Amino acid sequence: MRENASISRLSAELLDEHADLLKFFDRYERSAIGHAVADFVAGNPHEMPLPKFVDALRKWLEPRSKDHFAYKMSDPDAVRTVVASLGDRVRMPFEPEDIAMTNGAFSGLTITLRAICDPRDDVIYLSPPWFFYRGIIRSLGATPVRVAVDPSTWDIDLAAVERAITPRTRAILVNSPNNPTGRLYPRATLDRLAGLLEERSRGNGRRIYLVSDEAYSRILFDGHRYESPALSYPHTLVVYTYGKQLLTPGERIGYVALPPTMPAGDRAALRGALLMAQLVTGWAWPNAVLQYALGDLENVSIDIPRLQRKRDRVVNALKDAGYRLHVPEGTFYLLPHVPWKDHDAFYDHLNARGVFVLPGSTVELPGTFRISLTANDAMIDKALPVFAAAVREPAPA
Ligand code: PMP
Repeated sequence: MRENASISRLSAELLDEHADLLKFFDRYERSAIGHAVADFVAGNPHEMPLPKFVDALRKWLEPRSKDHFAYKMSDPDAVRTVVASLGDRVRMPFEPEDIAMTNGAFSGLTITLRAICDPRDDVIYLSPPWFFYRGIIRSLGATPVRVAVDPSTWDIDLAAVERAITPRTRAILVNSPNNPTGRLYPRATLDRLAGLLEERSRGNGRRIYLVSDEAYSRILFDGHRYESPALSYPHTLVVYTYGKQLLTPGERIGYVALPPTMPAGDRAALRGALLMAQLVTGWAWPNAVLQYALGDLENVSIDIPRLQRKRDRVVNALKDAGYRLHVPEGTFYLLPHVPWKDHDAFYDHLNARGVFVLPGSTVELPGTFRISLTANDAMIDKALPVFAAAVREPAPA
């Protein structure tokens, strides 16, 4: 680790931990900007925003009282919208007091883990993960514990989870459908995970929580219905962001929700803990305008059938070209295997032709690469022949 007296040891450790990712983004920004690029790197928009989103922001920007822009924690109308939405989708009567509005899942995850973890607690995450889980866990003084998913199905490896649980285990992070694998964990897997967590919580004499990162729960293909892990395990904290369904990750709103099946005493304690965590995390509530607008945004979504058609087009083209990949049940992402032994040479080859993807090494899975289907059709038109040609091309020695 690079010691540096001018910053904290934790900052130095976090920089170290994210060095590869930061280096990648630095290089990507420098080489992609100003070039005609097929950009598959991040779940970012590559088309104009949804008009309904813009209309709602315009409408709610106009002050209606002197308090319009006053300090705002969870707005009661936004909370009502979330309660109704969860009632429809999770089919459980969530209580308004059990909803904390947050500025996206980033802060939702941070305040959730801050509310439940002590320093030196273990938090299990499934690998390949979203790239900031480890950093968020470490920033709280807790220890990230990596458990790989089953490499052939991308499903949760329950035996490996069981082996990873210790008396220090406080939580397991579950993200379904999963970034980056696209896997929607089957209800049967979640039920078995719930049984395991219940048994081991009892054995430990301390609750192991399930933190459910549901960022992509409304980005589902093939008629799949979302079944929240909260249906399987009452001690689940549901974390959501509207940044995916609206494809507006720079305008930030989401929530943390405690299901009504969680014992009332635990919920009461967690409400206070989440509130404190929101304050000390740096006012982790969404801006007022987005909260007012939520009622108009709740049912607005990017065109999922169109995203599915893009998925089918890219998956089929990659498979025809000879790539190995799982067909995602949801999310924005594909995770094909790199067809060359020299992964960096493969990325250089794509980059030289204006095609940018996310190297699997940034998600703990070198040998794969992630493609975001938020790329526009012109980018896909441009990239598919490049992907196909790369397989036919003899990899450099
Ligand atoms: N969790 C996962 C799995 C994600 O992919 C993302 C966004 N890429 C987040 C959380 C954070 O979402 P937001 O930026 O909307 O807070």
